[in-house]
Amino acid sequence: MYLSKSYRFIRRGLHQKAFLTNVLKSRKLHGGGSAYAALEQLRDIAVTPEQPELYHDAVKIYNPAYSLEQPAFVAFPKNVEDIKRCLKIADKTNTPVAVKSGGHCFAGYSTTDSDGFVISLKNLNQVHVQESTVTVQAGACWGDVYSALDDTDYVAVGGCVPAVGIGGYILGGGYSMLSRAYGGLACDKALSFTMVKADGSNVVRASAKENEDLFWALKGGGGGNFGVMVDVTLEVSPRPKQFIWTRLIYNTTDQSEQGLRVVGKNLHNFPKELNLDMALHGYFGKKTLTLDAVYSDVHEDAVQSSLESLHPPVETQPQVFTSFLQFSTEYSKRHGFVHQEVEPIYVKGVMIQSLPPSLAKYFAHVEIPPECLLEFVHMGGDIARHSVTSTAFPLRTAQYSYYTYGRFHNPAQREEVLKFATTTYNAVRESGCALGSYVNYMDRHLKNWGKNFYGVNYPRLCEIKDKWNPLGHGSLHFQQEVGSSWEP
Ligand SMILES: Cc1cc2nc3c(=O)[nH]c(=O)nc-3n(C[C@H](O)[C@H](O)[C@H](O)COP(=O)(O)OP(=O)(O)OC[C@H]3O[C@@H](n4cnc5c(N)ncnc54)[C@H](O)[C@@H]3O)c2cc1C
Repeated sequence: MYLSKSYRFIRRGLHQKAFLTNVLKSRKLHGGGSAYAALEQLRDIAVTPEQPELYHDAVKIYNPAYSLEQPAFVAFPKNVEDIKRCLKIADKTNTPVAVKSGGHCFAGYSTTDSDGFVISLKNLNQVHVQESTVTVQAGACWGDVYSALDDTDYVAVGGCVPAVGIGGYILGGGYSMLSRAYGGLACDKALSFTMVKADGSNVVRASAKENEDLFWALKGGGGGNFGVMVDVTLEVSPRPKQFIWTRLIYNTTDQSEQGLRVVGKNLHNFPKELNLDMALHGYFGKKTLTLDAVYSDVHEDAVQSSLESLHPPVETQPQVFTSFLQFSTEYSKRHGFVHQEVEPIYVKGVMIQSLPPSLAKYFAHVEIPPECLLEFVHMGGDIARHSVTSTAFPLRTAQYSYYTYGRFHNPAQREEVLKFATTTYNAVRESGCALGSYVNYMDRHLKNWGKNFYGVNYPRLCEIKDKWNPLGHGSLHFQQEVGSSWEP
């Protein structure tokens, strides 16, 4: 099932229009069926394959590995009433639905096949700035928030890439290069959520005072599980005048091993004001370790000795940004091929709580295929200030989020990427320093995924899920939803 449809069509080299014609011929749109019955009642907000250009745009998702699993239609709610209507009609006609905010899910769960339809929140993208809070609709992206805050004295903890959507990101926890110094994950900054219940019957609010169980679950319990999140109100932080970004480069295997060893040794001593993302690249044709140090003018003194202790063979001139939007736009381009939104990819990762010398050696010496990147995103700092059970996100003791990002253009490359990602994942697990995997790096190949994503919080999460969106009821469900027994 995985990728098979995509590959059939990519291999045949079918033009998108020809593909859509095929879809039209074979789909229930011309027959009866539940999706057709749902469409009949949602035509005023629906885009169908009969409008090829609009449909082509409407079904786009970040990872094209799943983008040819074409839904019967895409509904674009204009308000909460439309969302309720979509869910009620889906329920009544027994039609599966998937919700899409930014469409960045690595495993394609914000789309569905021709038996179902997508509720795209693209038109619900308002950002409302109050004094020290900001209310954001789920269909906005982080760039919208950064842009709205750039003229204020505040900054939000949000995605490193401005194009990433609010909805899926925050429901999975959401880390940022500001997380360590500015209060933790994006979900830790959430003051309240508005959600349409999965059966479309009602709109509820979740906060520390209302529906506390749901509030806990929405902070890291994962997208698509409890209902359709409409908006979130976030606490924002006073913003520094400047964001500073310096890159440290280690050009040989020996240098890379040395760099990783020093990071491993100092892992628990880095000041929280320093964010130090690392990457090992295969695509320059030689092994390169890069360390991207991010801090603010307020914290410049606090981070200097740590940066010096890393003994970088090459250090780039610091880049200084006054606009957070501009900074995140530039920062998100740091790995070249990543985040292009045009190539099928596979991402597999696990969070680690230490980086022992044996693992530093393994990573420095492992042969990385040219289409792969190993990334280590800095965790710890204020993320660890919150207890493991304070929200549904359980991986609080992690120091790094490690993952392989691999792109592929043909089945042979796909096999190579999957094999490499799995081999490195297994090596990290065997090293004994791995915790679980991050639910926002959703992975259809992950075994025992419920425990892996949610750890000790899984039993409580299953109970809350059962209350708000029980398995077997309604239409908002997917393979790896909380409580599902599906295994790859
Ligand atoms: C380029 C890129 C950069 C990234 N950078 C970061 C980063 O800096 N930090 C980080 O923590 N993660 C990052 N991620 C991972 C990211 O958090 C997840 O991909 C996340 O799912 C994206 O949210 P979305 O709204 O775009 O996703 P979508 O694909 O729209 O949704 C993801 C899941 O949530 C569900 N969902 C979406 N909206 C709602 C809603 N309103 N209510 C209920 N369910 C919903 C979907 O059905 C799907 O199951 C990145 C991903 C990419 C592709």
